[in-house]
Amino acid sequence: MEFQARLYEKLEDDIVRCLICERRCILNPNQIGICKNYQNLSGKLIHLGYGVLSAVESRPIEIKPLFHYWPNSTALTFSGYGCNFYCPWCQNDHLSFSNLPEDPKRIPPERLVEYALKVGDEGLCASFNEPATLYDYLLDLFELGKRSNLYGVLVTNGYFTEKALENLVEAGADGYSMDIKGCPKACNALATIDHVKVFRNARKLIDLGGHVEMVYLVVTGFNDDEECIEWILGKHFDLLGPDIPLHINRYYPAHVWREPATSLSKLLRIMEKAQRIGINYVYVGNVGVPELEETRCPKCGKTLITRHHYRVTYYHLDGDRCPRCGCKIPIRGRFIEGKPLPHLTLSIMFI
Ligand code: SF4
Repeated sequence: MEFQARLYEKLEDDIVRCLICERRCILNPNQIGICKNYQNLSGKLIHLGYGVLSAVESRPIEIKPLFHYWPNSTALTFSGYGCNFYCPWCQNDHLSFSNLPEDPKRIPPERLVEYALKVGDEGLCASFNEPATLYDYLLDLFELGKRSNLYGVLVTNGYFTEKALENLVEAGADGYSMDIKGCPKACNALATIDHVKVFRNARKLIDLGGHVEMVYLVVTGFNDDEECIEWILGKHFDLLGPDIPLHINRYYPAHVWREPATSLSKLLRIMEKAQRIGINYVYVGNVGVPELEETRCPKCGKTLITRHHYRVTYYHLDGDRCPRCGCKIPIRGRFIEGKPLPHLTLSIMFI
């Protein structure tokens, strides 16, 4: 069965242009796009990777990281194959750099929704590899999930076209953990990526009513110099405002990038800089220090939420307000009380 993509345009001589992400691949007949998931077959763009999943797991939302979205909930988290970026430090290169299997088994969206409900998840989350590879599948899946009150989340490099984002939000995807890969100066890797578009998209999602948290993986020797740090923090504050959470994460050597892991002192310096320019919710991740993952009231300083090992260990809000000073705290969804960490790793074989 062929799954025709929704977002493309026909050019002359059966050539098509994919409009799912800002790569905007122009494909001759039989040609496959950069992400390896869309192919021009006889002048039609076909989603080769529709429902072809590489992993399915029930996972805490805090691991994404999303700290202000359905706190302490779990999402049925899944991935496909391929990517539209090729980051030399990719932590999931076994998925992102892989081709689709030759004889793929497709998991219908109905099956994934059924499974999420069966294992007691509150939502669905496309993660591990870039969700643009699963775009048409996601629209069907989130639409179905919405009818069963499951939230829809993407962990993404944020390189979708604006039209693609509009469709995702309309289908029910309202949570976005978005990577900040770099700045215009950081061009030795990802040379063809326009980093401004990632912030443009984050702004667009906020305007469409989505919940957005930004993740800055501070990669040694790529995006960790002062000019790049200033650019990223400035864009975050100027375009997204003070209340959009910023996760400043430690990088570890992976794939072909062998520079040393980010030092804690550098991460703390970036955190302080972000707080100084006025970003209210700044977290430092991948360092195993729970205090750096606490939510405090930006007005009176009261500790409101603490976390440990991706679970909420203390949650003290009065609705969406600080119980001490009444300051409004941006939280989407409700706090799920007493939910243990899922220990299940599900194989797609069982779905
Ligand atoms: S989704 Fe894939 S095929 Fe489409 S523009 Fe992006 S990289 Fe190219």
